Amino acid sequence: MSVAVEKSKEMVLKAGSRMAYAGLVTGTWGNISVRVPGTNLYVVTPSGISYDRLVKSDLVIVEGGGRVIEGERKPSTELKLHLAIYHAREDVMAIMHTHSTFASAMAVAGQPLPPILEDLAQLVGGQVPVTRYARAGTPNLAAAVIEVLGQSNAVLLANHGVVGMGRTLEEALQVCMVVEKAAQVYAWASLLGQVKEIPEGEASLLRDLYLTSYGQPKHSPPARS
Ligand code: 13P
Ligand code: ZN
Repeated sequence: MSVAVEKSKEMVLKAGSRMAYAGLVTGTWGNISVRVPGTNLYVVTPSGISYDRLVKSDLVIVEGGGRVIEGERKPSTELKLHLAIYHAREDVMAIMHTHSTFASAMAVAGQPLPPILEDLAQLVGGQVPVTRYARAGTPNLAAAVIEVLGQSNAVLLANHGVVGMGRTLEEALQVCMVVEKAAQVYAWASLLGQVKEIPEGEASLLRDLYLTSYGQPKHSPPARS
């Protein structure tokens, strides 16, 4: 396989450890995929293997229709969900699905997460929508996500968890972390008596500023990883 595939596999392994270390998943649940740049190939985590035990050869390469191209393991049960998102959104290069606690609480309440914090508005855009109930691992769950996805970078899965995405796997991980933090803040603010959202026009302006000018300029030295 190509250098790009090998690089994508390394990124998935690293993101898996970081996802588990950040407490976004419990046990073997959750999954990760990346689109290999310039191809119709995707690297996806295997089903039901702990992130602390995952090695390169456990990862599965599939093509856009879901056919396994390389790998001995059974791919994630949410493969259809990942592929449906890649097909719907050309801009998405990486997807992370987590079962983090506070975001799951919102998904149980059937409550979308409004833009309440600037990092959330920057990374996700507007509110994080919540799906209707659909069983994990089914094409019905994939359809339920596509129904509400729009241009959002995150969706709450009813009675289940979160799916976050981005232009890079690093960004998809950040989306999942920021959604979890914002869901926690939402719960605390509700206990304090009121939740004030960022004004509507302001949230989309924050998103635009993030996309056009946040972070280091293109030609500055690369950040150490
Ligand atoms: P996999 O272990 O099959 O990736 O699935 C876990 C999960 O989160 C299902 O929604
Ligand atoms: Zn799940």
